[in-house]
Amino acid sequence: MTISKSLALLIFVGLNIFVSTNSIAQNNKVKTSKKEPAKSSLASYEKYIDDNNDAHLKEFTELIAIPSISSIPANKPDVDRAAAWIVNKLKAIGMTTAQTLPTDGNSIVYGSWDKAPGKPTVIIYAHYDVQPVKESEWDIPAFEPKIMDGKIFGRGASDDKSGVMITIWAVEAMLRTDGKLPVNVKFIFDGEEEKGSPRFKTFLDKNKELLKADFAVNADGSQYSETTPSILMSLRWVSARKLAFRIPGVSEISACSPK
Ligand SMILES: [Zn+2]
Repeated sequence: MTISKSLALLIFVGLNIFVSTNSIAQNNKVKTSKKEPAKSSLASYEKYIDDNNDAHLKEFTELIAIPSISSIPANKPDVDRAAAWIVNKLKAIGMTTAQTLPTDGNSIVYGSWDKAPGKPTVIIYAHYDVQPVKESEWDIPAFEPKIMDGKIFGRGASDDKSGVMITIWAVEAMLRTDGKLPVNVKFIFDGEEEKGSPRFKTFLDKNKELLKADFAVNADGSQYSETTPSILMSLRWVSARKLAFRIPGVSEISACSPK
């Protein structure tokens, strides 16, 4: 099985679009400095994804194997373990900050990379908690991920640990290839989405400065077909209400679909 490059590429393209969109919004021309080294082509990011497929697959199965079910109190240690696993991964790819932020319930995982002064900031949302499992509906143990017919099966493999990992791998590929990102990036990974994110709004209200951004990406969406990923742009209302995104400066909320 290979990790889908098209999905990661969607994030690469998205991060670059945010630079030019923000520039246009501010009535500036997109400036390219001759002193600035040329950005790597998408092909070099694709090569990175190909070259690291086995390592990424191993990471993905590790994360899926953690039963981070938010609605079952007995699974709280697993939820915490999944959060800690993601923090370690964010540190390993070179994010400036990687930590869990407490709420009255499960922690939010936060990571940031802030070394693009003057460039916009993109905040990326996904969630690392999963739904409980009815064992009778599963042909395999839900937390023992298995690859069949080129697909990986396991609870959370799609919704939404794919959203967590593909966005991280996209940032990793750009950092490892270019040594930098075209924009500043903040990750926030919810640990209670599958139980309705009861503390998320309070969390946002308490952390407005920390979460300040120019664009928000919701990596917990759908796509056109199994082979066609998608980005929905400018979802201002329903998504804003659903996620209670009330981040100062955010002018657009986009949903992308790395599933
Ligand atoms: Zn979801």
